[in-house]
This record gives sequence, C-alpha cells and structure tokens, in this order.
Amino acid sequence: MKHQNEMKLSFPSQSANEGFARAAVAAFVSQLNPPVDELVDIRTAVSEAVTNCILHAYPDTCGMITLTVWLYPNGKTIIKVTDRGRGIDNLDKALEPLFTTGGEERSGLGFSVMQSFSDKLRVKSNPGKGTIVLIEKMIGNR
Ligand code: ATP
Ligand code: MG
Repeated sequence: MKHQNEMKLSFPSQSANEGFARAAVAAFVSQLNPPVDELVDIRTAVSEAVTNCILHAYPDTCGMITLTVWLYPNGKTIIKVTDRGRGIDNLDKALEPLFTTGGEERSGLGFSVMQSFSDKLRVKSNPGKGTIVLIEKMIGNR
C-alpha cells in the first residue's frame, strides 16, 4: 500500500528540540483524527527516540536528527528517527529492559516504552555511523 502523506524534519540534537519533535509529529498525525490515547502513545514514543539521539547518539557533540513520518490510507503510521551518531555496539542488549549505558540517571526503559506504546518497533544501528528507529502504529483501527 502506498502512503497518502509524508513529512520530513531535520534539527540539531539540542534538548530544546525534544518537545518540538514530539509536538510536530503529533500535529502531523492529527489529520487522521486519532483518539487521544493513541496520540499520547505516539508523542511518548517519539520523545523517547529523540531523547536517545540527544543523550546517546551525540553524547559530547551536537549532531543532526531526522524525523520522517508516513501516513497510510488504512491508518498505519510509520515514524522514522535517524541519527548519524555513535551507533549501538550491542543492539540485543540495548533493547533489553533496564539496560543502560547512561549511568544512574537513566533507567534503561526507553526502548521498552517505545515497544509497548507502538505496534511494531524496529531498530537498525551501525557502530560509528548511526541509528535508525522505526516506530509503527495503527491509528483509529479503521
Ligand atoms: P531511559 O530511556 O530509561 O532514560 P536509556 O536511554 O539508557 O534510559 P534506552 O532508551 O532503552 O535506555 O536505551 C538503551 C541504551 O541503548 C542506551 O543506554 C544507549 O546505550 C543505547 N542507545 C539508545 N539509543 C541510542 C542512539 N540513538 N545512539 C546510540 N546509542 C543508543
Ligand atoms: Mg532512552
């Protein structure tokens, strides 16, 4: 099935842009008239993915984050969050609940949250090159 609409955004990994990214995706997805709880799920998942780019992909620098959203006629929504940062050495471990390289301030639950707030989560990562997170969610169950 071909998408019916798409949007793409790029912004630097400043923490001020986390809220912007969340709000921008929500505003775009709103054209599907999603139930409030599904919009909250999307906002939460995007927030976790973008926060990971800011904290982990570019720990000591500022780099670009790209967000792409595709909307399909049946309500399927795919959100892609891409960074060109440090990448993830052991992806299986990183996806485990409670695994973190972020020390005591982090709980290691970001990927678990993304998983439970979406229908499908896919992560591809290349150490030294960057990470792609694909969040898929059905809106409105049409
Ligand atoms: P929390 O999300 O609960 O604050 P966290 O960010 O450490 O803690 P996850 O979001 O589950 O937990 O991520 C797990 C680990 O995966 C991170 O600690 C980090 O090592 C790695 N990681 C996640 N996203 C990226 C990314 N975009 N680039 C590089 N490493 C990442
Ligand atoms: Mg996280």
